[in-house]
Amino acid sequence: MTIYNLGSINIDHVYRLTALPRAGETLHSHALSLGMGGKGSNQSIAAAKAGGEVVHLGAMGTGDAWVLERLAQAGVQTDRIARLAEQPTGHAIILVDDAAENCIVIHGGANVALPPELVSRDMAGIGPDDILLMQNETNQQVEAAAHARANGARVIYSAAPFQIDALRAVLPHVSVLAVNEGEAREAFAALGQDLPIDGLLITRGAEGAEYRDLIRGTTHRQAAFRVTPKDTTGAGDCFAGWFAAGLARGEDAPTALRHAAAAAALQVTREGAGDAMPDRDEVMAFLK
Ligand code: ATP
Repeated sequence: MTIYNLGSINIDHVYRLTALPRAGETLHSHALSLGMGGKGSNQSIAAAKAGGEVVHLGAMGTGDAWVLERLAQAGVQTDRIARLAEQPTGHAIILVDDAAENCIVIHGGANVALPPELVSRDMAGIGPDDILLMQNETNQQVEAAAHARANGARVIYSAAPFQIDALRAVLPHVSVLAVNEGEAREAFAALGQDLPIDGLLITRGAEGAEYRDLIRGTTHRQAAFRVTPKDTTGAGDCFAGWFAAGLARGEDAPTALRHAAAAAALQVTREGAGDAMPDRDEVMAFLK
C-alpha cells in the first residue's frame, strides 16, 4: 500500500522582528530561520514518520537540495518530484513580532506550475491498494484525483487552504474528505451535509476530531490529548498524514484516529511545521 501525495513543498522563511512593519516602513529582522512548510510536504513527512510508504508528487525549482534531503531523511520517496527550471521552489515569508503576531506571504512557484503530463506519468503504478493524498496547494488536483480513482485507488483530500470552487471540482473523485471545523462549516453551507464521499474527517483543534463513515453510517470520536501547545502550525497536516498512513496500513478508524491525535498532540508541543512531526516510536511511547 503506497501513499502518493500530490502536494506543495514550501520553504518557510521565518523573520523575527520587534514589531510588524506598516505600509511603506523598512525594518531590520533580528533572526531568520528556514524550515520545511507547505501542506504537501508536511503531510508527506507525517505519513512517512507514521510508517507509511510515501511517494511525494509535486515540483520544486532547481536549487534547494537540502529540502529533498530533509524529506528523504523522514522516509519520503523524492525521486518523482519534478525540478522546474523556470520556477522557484514554493516559499512562505513569515514575519513574527515580539507579541507572536504574524504576517505571512506565500508564493506558490513550482507548486502551482505542474505540467499536466507529469501527473499521470508520475502516478504510474498507482492501483486499488493505494491512496492518493492531496491538499489545495497545487494545480492538477482534479486530473490527479480522476486518474487515481480510474485506477481503483482511494483519494484523501485535505480541503485546505479552503476554496469552495476547488472543492466542488475535485469532490466527485474524493473518497475521504479531511477538514477542520471552519472548513467543515463552509463546505456544509455551500454543498449541504450529504456529501458524495465514503468518509469525512473533521478536526476540531483542542476539542479533538471525528471520523464519519458515510458508507456504514457510523461516527467515531476522538478527544484531543491534553498538552501545553507551543506552536500549532501544521497540527492539521500531522493529523491528516498520520490518519492516511493508518488507513493505508489497514487500521480501523478508531485506531487511526487515536494515533493521529497522539501524533498531533506531540507536534503542537514543538516549534515548526514539517520539522516537528513525531515518529512512530515517539507516538507509541506517548500512548503507553
Ligand atoms: P493547522 O491549520 O494549525 O494545521 P488545523 O486547523 O488544520 O490546524 P486543528 O483542528 O486545529 O487543525 O488540529 C488538528 C488536530 O491536532 C486536532 O484534532 C487535535 O488532535 C490536534 N491538536 C490541535 N491543537 C491541539 C492542542 N492545543 N492540544 C492537543 N491537540 C491539539
